[in-house]
Amino acid sequence: MSARSEPGDPVSALVSAVGLGLVDTSVPAPAGSARRDPTELRELAERAGRELEGAPALEIARWAVETFGDRFCVTSSMADAVLAHLVSRVAPGVDVVFLDTGLHFPETLAVRDEVARRLPVNVRSIRPRLTVGQQDGEYGPRLFNKSPDECCQLRKVEPLERALAGYDAWAAGLRREESPTRANTPVVTFDARRGKVKVNPIAAWTQADVDAYIARWNVPVNELFRRGYGSIGCWPCTRRTRAGEDPRAGRWAMFEKTECGLHL
Ligand code: SF4
Repeated sequence: MSARSEPGDPVSALVSAVGLGLVDTSVPAPAGSARRDPTELRELAERAGRELEGAPALEIARWAVETFGDRFCVTSSMADAVLAHLVSRVAPGVDVVFLDTGLHFPETLAVRDEVARRLPVNVRSIRPRLTVGQQDGEYGPRLFNKSPDECCQLRKVEPLERALAGYDAWAAGLRREESPTRANTPVVTFDARRGKVKVNPIAAWTQADVDAYIARWNVPVNELFRRGYGSIGCWPCTRRTRAGEDPRAGRWAMFEKTECGLHL
């Protein structure tokens, strides 16, 4: 397969993002309010984790918006736009961070573009420091086949650290049902590695809850779900799931790896 025809072609991704006016930035988002002390953030997270367990997702999102204001953002893999939509109901204009690895399926980029067009959110499309070609030159081609942890570090983990620099809290769409490694996901926790509060408003949702929300609100959803994918990441590391497998079984299927490092 030539570089030109690869699904995650960074050139087409760039054209798409620029055409929509998405911001691809190497600097933190501007933030109006003052940064909170990590000790205070930890206390806030621990109390909210206890008090909001069992609360509706919208209430958890509202707490985050009211507590952190513009120092709160949503992250999205653009598998679907459920979390972005949910938070936008209590915070129109909220920042939605998408990690544009340069190796996404075109269907994923289409969801990102649809979210930017249709939802009242500010999509921030964040790219790694190195293009795929530059990474190939420095680390050798197809690093994802040789050292996926290193590839994820370069293309996801470091860009997320950079993207989150201007926030005290971030929301992710993790759900306990997705895999054994996510079974104990709290609704609010302190992300000690980053010194930030992490909010998981839909942690307790089942797939049926997600499907019902998508249908109720006509939320953008990745076309690949209809083609047998249970979970969607970069195209080199994602395959269709088989009957009986958990939804994330198609991610890094040839490795022991189950998480990209964003949520560890
Ligand atoms: S998911 Fe695969 S291609 Fe994407 S950053 Fe991780 S190792 Fe690289």
